[in-house]
Amino acid sequence: MGAPKRALFPGSFDPITNGHIEIIQRGLLLFDEIVIGIGLNTSKQPMFPPQQRLRWIEETFRDQPRVRVCLYEGLTVRFARQIEAQFILRGLRSAPDYEYERNIDLLNKYLDPGIETFYLMSSPETSFVSSTLVREVIRFHGHLEGLLPSHIIRDIYATYPEGKPLPSLP
Ligand code: ADP
Repeated sequence: MGAPKRALFPGSFDPITNGHIEIIQRGLLLFDEIVIGIGLNTSKQPMFPPQQRLRWIEETFRDQPRVRVCLYEGLTVRFARQIEAQFILRGLRSAPDYEYERNIDLLNKYLDPGIETFYLMSSPETSFVSSTLVREVIRFHGHLEGLLPSHIIRDIYATYPEGKPLPSLP
C-alpha cells in the first residue's frame, strides 16, 4: 500500500458554505484524506476571526475522520508540502472562477510542479453560493437556510439584534 492520497482544500472559508461542503464530500470519493487549509495571508479583511472559522469547520466534519482543518500562512504549495499533500482540491462554479483558477494553477505549477490540482464543478444547487454573498446576507440580517450548516446558522442568528429572521413569503 502506498502513501495515503491526501488533498489540501485551501480557501478563506469566511464562512464555510454548503458549496464548499459539497466539493469536500465529493472530494472524499477521490482522496483518502482532505485537509481544509484556512489561508491567513490574503489581503481581504475577514468577517469572522480565524478561530471561529476553524471551530465551525471542525464541528461540520466532527463525524468524518478523513477530514481535518488547519490554519496556514504563506504559499499554498509550500503548505501542501508541509502536510505531505500530493494534491490540491478546488471548486469551480462559473467562467470567472475558471479564469481565476487557471492563473493560480499556472503559478502553483511554476512554484512546485510536483503538486497537482484537481477541480470539481459545483452542483446547480450550490453554484450560486459564495462566502461573499453569504456575508452580504448576514450584514443585512437575512435568512440563511440552505446556504450554511444549521449549527453555523444558529450561531449567526444569535448575533442578529432581532433574532431568527422570518423566511421570505413565496
Ligand atoms: P478563496 O478565498 O480562495 O476564493 P473560498 O473560501 O471562497 O476561497 O473558496 C475556496 C474554494 O471553494 C475555491 O476553490 C472556490 O472556488 C470553492 N467554492 C466556493 N464556493 C463554492 C461553491 N458554491 N461551489 C463550488 N465550489 C465553491
